[in-house]
Amino acid sequence: MDTDAASFARTVIDWYRRYGRHDLPWQGQDAYRVWLSEIMLQQTQVNTVIPYYRNFVKRFPSIKQLADASIDEVLQHWQGLGYYARARNLHRAANIIRDRHKGRFPQTFEAVAALPGIGRSTAGAILSFAFGQRWPILDGNVKRVLARCFRVPGWYGQSETMKQLWYLAESVTPEKDAADFNQAMMDIGSMVCLKSKPKCEACPLRQLCSSYRHHSQAEYPQKKPSRARPHKTTLMLLHRCGEQVLLWRRPPSGIWGGLWSLPEVDDEPAIPLWQQSFLSTSQAPRNIQDNVIHHQFTHYSLDISLAIIELEDLPKKLSDADNYAWVEIADLVNHGLPTPVRKLLSSLQE
Ligand code: SF4
Repeated sequence: MDTDAASFARTVIDWYRRYGRHDLPWQGQDAYRVWLSEIMLQQTQVNTVIPYYRNFVKRFPSIKQLADASIDEVLQHWQGLGYYARARNLHRAANIIRDRHKGRFPQTFEAVAALPGIGRSTAGAILSFAFGQRWPILDGNVKRVLARCFRVPGWYGQSETMKQLWYLAESVTPEKDAADFNQAMMDIGSMVCLKSKPKCEACPLRQLCSSYRHHSQAEYPQKKPSRARPHKTTLMLLHRCGEQVLLWRRPPSGIWGGLWSLPEVDDEPAIPLWQQSFLSTSQAPRNIQDNVIHHQFTHYSLDISLAIIELEDLPKKLSDADNYAWVEIADLVNHGLPTPVRKLLSSLQE
């Protein structure tokens, strides 16, 4: 690294003190709130996170209250934020902290990184923000700033690239004021060194930035050669009996894991068999609406069609009653549902 690490850190911290964000609701709070914010901020923008964060800490003001709550209630408060594995890991980790750490957030890197859902960067962020310890971080924003400043070749999925980025993060993190430095790097990434059109003229690092010198900002970070995203289809079954609808709790892992949703089959001919297996009855759909929702996941896109099935009477038998439930339409608000499914069901509540 030809840039002097001390001047890099000083430049970044000086900028932060004048222009960085100092009023985020989790700044200066205890480790629980810092941890929660770091988890919510993974893959999600600050402005989206703030109302969820406030609502979450209002309902679960301490690690113990979070640990003691049901996973259903936690998922319900996470609803709309996406990437639900984060909420399940948060709940599991809260249980571990209550049971093994006497309810107090651990303060060593090993203990923090051993908690579910906490990787190296998140552990470093929590320890630096909550306890003032010196640990480097490498979230999406910091990766981009470092990849451009030092023109790091390769893309993030390559271990050599990540090794080099961690080496750089480690090298530039100062002994003192690591929390300010880490927050500053995140702020530069999200406010100045934007993904497209970085605001180099306003950037404190431009004198030290190799991409800026070589006019190659657009080339870093390098992109993984793209592959076409696979396309999938599914048919959701909306069984309705009077003011009740049938919901299905999705398996804990996989998309929308642990959330309530509608039962699914591959196509229309599969409906009678599904009904016989789970409801011991069979009723043809009133209508089938094609492609009511198109949803993009990270790895594939999904077209959801909807079969509407009206039942005269509630079926006497419901197989797998742990994972299926008849729910009053007015009570849907109290169930954690994926956003597309909630939208789909919202017309019933009008
Ligand atoms: S000078 Fe431009 S490319 Fe370099 S870190 Fe700053 S904003 Fe990013």
